[in-house]
Amino acid sequence: MDLGLKDRVAIVAAASKGLGKAVALGLAREGAKIALCARGEAELRATAAEIPTECLALTVDVSVESQVAQFVRAVVERFGRIDICIANAGGPPARQFESASISDWRAAIDLNFMSTLYLARETLPLMKQARWGRFLTITSVAVKQPIDGLILSNSVRSAVTGLVKTLSNEYAPFNVLVNNVCPGYTATERLKALGAKPEHLIPLGRVARPEEFADVVVFLASERASYITGSSILVDGGMVRSS
Ligand code: NAD
Repeated sequence: MDLGLKDRVAIVAAASKGLGKAVALGLAREGAKIALCARGEAELRATAAEIPTECLALTVDVSVESQVAQFVRAVVERFGRIDICIANAGGPPARQFESASISDWRAAIDLNFMSTLYLARETLPLMKQARWGRFLTITSVAVKQPIDGLILSNSVRSAVTGLVKTLSNEYAPFNVLVNNVCPGYTATERLKALGAKPEHLIPLGRVARPEEFADVVVFLASERASYITGSSILVDGGMVRSS
């Protein structure tokens, strides 16, 4: 199947490692030009060096509006357009209700909700003008089934799905498709940091490889995924128990 991604221009946010990096590499292998960002310069440079197509890599904190706006401007200057935007960021820390401070809540909202909003504000009008676009968010299975001890993630990511569903309706007339992709447990540094040993919770009996998650995102970003919008798609090895 030709995914029709050759020479498409894709932003992949928070992509120096983990799921973002796997998505950037997956899109590039299909011929897309890539704009990457993350906060840490050294790791970002190392990842950019692995991208086989034309690549712009800039240090950006996606929770800061002015940095996101500057990044998107730089991408347009370099490539002339934006076809695909993958909104991603790190995850908030593990907390229970009584251990989460107000500043924890504000930081989680900035990191996972406002960053998505900033990227959407900067990129969707351009896609609308071009009458083609794919805006994808990376959230978590937590939007379908809350994970114990992750109250910040469970709450804030559900706000992202409300945003995604609403945007999908507003932008559908312009052939701009907006979807959310929900990773289950996937072997990245985030999983190590959380110290999770979840295999017994997963019908497939193992955590995912980042590439297994990335393959789904690459398809949704492609020409071939032309009739999917407003969906939250699980890549979770069967972990969420509802049908
Ligand atoms: P990771 O920690 O391996 O990588 C996170 C990436 O985001 C890194 O490149 C980091 O530099 C970048 N980053 C973090 N904060 C940033 C910021 N403010 N601005 C710019 N870049 C920033 O994490 P991951 O496993 O790849 O997870 C990606 C997302 O998916 C996270 O939100 C995570 O919570 C979520 N998620 C992961 C899993 C999993 O099992 N790995 C499961 C469910 C949800």
